[in-house]
Amino acid sequence: MVSEPTTSTAGDTRAAEPAGQGQSPTRALRFVAVSNRLPVVVEQSAEGWTTRPAGGGLVTALAPVLRNRGGLWVGWPGVTEDVDLHALLDRASREAGYRLHPVRLTAEEARLFYLGISNEALWPLFHDLFTRARFSPEAWRAYLEVNRKFARVVARRGRSADYIWVHDYHLMTMARELRALGVEQRMGFFLHIPFPAPDIFLKLPWRAQILHALLDYDLIGFQTARDRRNFLDCARLVLPDARARGKGAVVSLNHGGRTVRVGTFPISIDFDEFAHQSSAPAVVEATRRLREELGGRTILLGVDRLDYTKGIPERLEGYRLALTRYAELRGEVTYVQVAVPSRRDVPEYQVLRAEVDRLIGEINGEFAQIDWVPIHYFFRSLPREELLGYYRAADIALVTPLKDGMNLVAKEYCAAHVENDGVLVLSEFAGAAAQLHRWAVMVNPHDVEGTAEAIHTAYHMAPADRQRRMRRLRDSIRRNNIYRWVDDFLEAAVAKRLNDFPYQEDYVPPLDPGEGF
Ligand code: UDP
Repeated sequence: MVSEPTTSTAGDTRAAEPAGQGQSPTRALRFVAVSNRLPVVVEQSAEGWTTRPAGGGLVTALAPVLRNRGGLWVGWPGVTEDVDLHALLDRASREAGYRLHPVRLTAEEARLFYLGISNEALWPLFHDLFTRARFSPEAWRAYLEVNRKFARVVARRGRSADYIWVHDYHLMTMARELRALGVEQRMGFFLHIPFPAPDIFLKLPWRAQILHALLDYDLIGFQTARDRRNFLDCARLVLPDARARGKGAVVSLNHGGRTVRVGTFPISIDFDEFAHQSSAPAVVEATRRLREELGGRTILLGVDRLDYTKGIPERLEGYRLALTRYAELRGEVTYVQVAVPSRRDVPEYQVLRAEVDRLIGEINGEFAQIDWVPIHYFFRSLPREELLGYYRAADIALVTPLKDGMNLVAKEYCAAHVENDGVLVLSEFAGAAAQLHRWAVMVNPHDVEGTAEAIHTAYHMAPADRQRRMRRLRDSIRRNNIYRWVDDFLEAAVAKRLNDFPYQEDYVPPLDPGEGF
């Protein structure tokens, strides 16, 4: 174990930290979450630079482990400008209840590490779309360098009792860098996106480096059993001495004298919060208004980031075919597509946007009547209340990604249907399918005819069948919620649950002066 503090800083304030439940501050188990982005958005407004909390499932899930428990979250603040982050993040840390610690990236680092490797190589390849992947050796060097940078920040702030939990494909080589710095604390990694099968993964020029680096974590978590199987298959092919042992949610992988545990932990949502918020009077009113404005027709809903993995053009073709084949749908269904702008600086995303615009124009042009538009299209992010209004109003959700780590929209749609009605049409290739396939209408998103058929089936489904399925979907998501996800990971990582972390009212760890800012 590296003696602590790992790096001394002038005026180290840690001696003054409260102990909590009688434990010495440096002995108390503490969580260090690490992700590409900090859970705040740093932006420029009329008053200068400000921060606001970023939403999302990961923040919801990790906040209870960090807040008032001395936790630390390390990540890139998302800006490369020369912003004075010290005061900004100090204030944001106090509001969050845990310390936000930045990793600064230059514009060039952000371009190569974030766009070059994360978005343009790993993202498409890990979603099985390897022909879209670009492999730039220069960008790969930047990826390694940025992972090293993250590791240095974590090592400087480290304590012997830390558990370091690293998130997602941007930071796969970070454990290797931490180990090279002498950090011996326990480290876990969770991959939020799918892990591809060997045929695809082996195309990656840096496959062996990535696998070796991942094995420096103590626990590696995947969304589904399929992702874990793919990882183990790749590990056996690239590292001939690798041996997997055990059964169940967490197995062991032995390689080079080390044992790494490898588990499946399907991520989820705060079910009760979604259900509760969906019952709020404002949402009920928004739902009623929407139904009225859409003429009481059957509402189909798609909610996706505008990303080529989400299968939006394929879904639109399926809808077009459904309208062509089944005349009874014309004038009777309305499809609302919410597409949240994403990665607008990547050329593929600009091409996709043009394709979606074109398809929607074609379908509306072909089928519209004077009092009916087949597709309503929003190219923007919706506030939570409005989104919940759409979820509740929708009779059918079309969740048809070509491949997805989990897909939270599928779960949120069900949670919002507090009256146990509504049909989920779900892709076989969404991580959520492993859990929800028995009660959803399943589709192969590449199969245009199958998608048209699924829309037709969902439209005609008898109310009793709809309700029986929705009740089962909701029961499953209620039980396997986001808190269960955190607990299961913690249990596997440190054999502890949330309540084992010392609680200290209103305690945010102090800033280390002059560090990292
Ligand atoms: N979302 C949002 N505003 C919108 C549409 C979607 O905040 O206008 C959220 C949605 O509630 C969900 C997330 O975006 O939590 C999408 O997560 P998902 O796992 O479905 O896909 P990802 O975008 O992470 O690939």
